[in-house]
Amino acid sequence: MRQIAIWLLLLVILLVVEAGKDYYNILDVPRDAPKNQIKKHYKKLSRVYHPDKNPGNKDAEAKFMELSSAYEVLMDDEKRGIYDRYGEEGLEQHKNGGGGGGFHNPFDMFAQFFGGGGFGGGRAQAQERRGPDLQVELEVSLEDLYNGATIEVDISKQTVCDHCHGSGARRSEDIQTCPACQGRGVTVTRVQLGPGMVQQFQQTCHQCGGKGKTIRAVCPACSGRKVLRGNEQYTLTIEKGMRDGQTTVLEQEADEYPDAIPGDVIFTISTVPHPTFDRQGNNLYTTQQITLIEALVGFEKTLKQLDESVITLKREGITQYGFVQTVKGAGMPHFDNPKQHGDLFVEYKVVFPTSIDKQTVELLKQGAHFPATGVVHEEL
Ligand SMILES: [Zn+2]
Ligand SMILES: [Zn+2]
Repeated sequence: MRQIAIWLLLLVILLVVEAGKDYYNILDVPRDAPKNQIKKHYKKLSRVYHPDKNPGNKDAEAKFMELSSAYEVLMDDEKRGIYDRYGEEGLEQHKNGGGGGGFHNPFDMFAQFFGGGGFGGGRAQAQERRGPDLQVELEVSLEDLYNGATIEVDISKQTVCDHCHGSGARRSEDIQTCPACQGRGVTVTRVQLGPGMVQQFQQTCHQCGGKGKTIRAVCPACSGRKVLRGNEQYTLTIEKGMRDGQTTVLEQEADEYPDAIPGDVIFTISTVPHPTFDRQGNNLYTTQQITLIEALVGFEKTLKQLDESVITLKREGITQYGFVQTVKGAGMPHFDNPKQHGDLFVEYKVVFPTSIDKQTVELLKQGAHFPATGVVHEEL
């Protein structure tokens, strides 16, 4: 009988856990997602569902609130641990037990990423504050520009501290209204100029620097600096046929600030020199060495293309020194129409022998007569 009761209790607990919201689902991240992934998803989704962008849409508003609570829990190691083990119910009890404090205001949390409280109205001005863009030179191989590729890049950047969400305080209770200015950020000095004449001077509060708040205990993770330096990984797509100077932009992924929108990371493509091919526009250029015999009687050679396929270079008869053979359509893919390719130009350099025996000299003197012709081009 007692056993049945325990089983029933377990079942009830399980049902409660099941019935709670799945924070991982809400943020669309796996259960072992690292913090930077959680943060990235929150940033992306919270922008989409923000009530200012969806006026009157109750579903979007509910979703925005859900995102905020999911983000707050999963970014906090202690809360995440409790949630993983006991679900939402466990967090509720943890909160009531006085540990960890209550939930943050979802709009404050959003503002930590994007500045201001939202997108519109009187808060627009705060939203416009924006950090500088980050320019990065992206070295790409000619193979990747020929075939297209995705590349992983590691960017060193400033991020808003995960521990204090950019407040700089150990916990939210440690943020206090500035006693010197009562939270106004300014102090007013009255100066008696003469009988009955009083002038008021308004000054930025010295104690809080105009913020209106002081911090009693600083965040141990960032020492109150609100930001940390770290590395973040991104995946970039290189399109077929991209050229030097072309850019790939990661919007709002530059240094984060507690009170401003991050700037963009702008990657500028720079091709790594290739051992075989030179690129000019959509055309490729290469040089091939041939022996004197090959120059006189012809040859068949192969050349490895940038996609590992094989190009056959074939000549019959005489090939002049400096002769240029055009291989149609074997150049770079066009960026705007990758099915179309430029051409490949192969220039031949004849390598002369370092010695010649007397017998051959005699034979050549006797029988050979070579009429001279100019350099010609041939298309394959
Ligand atoms: Zn911190
Ligand atoms: Zn103050």
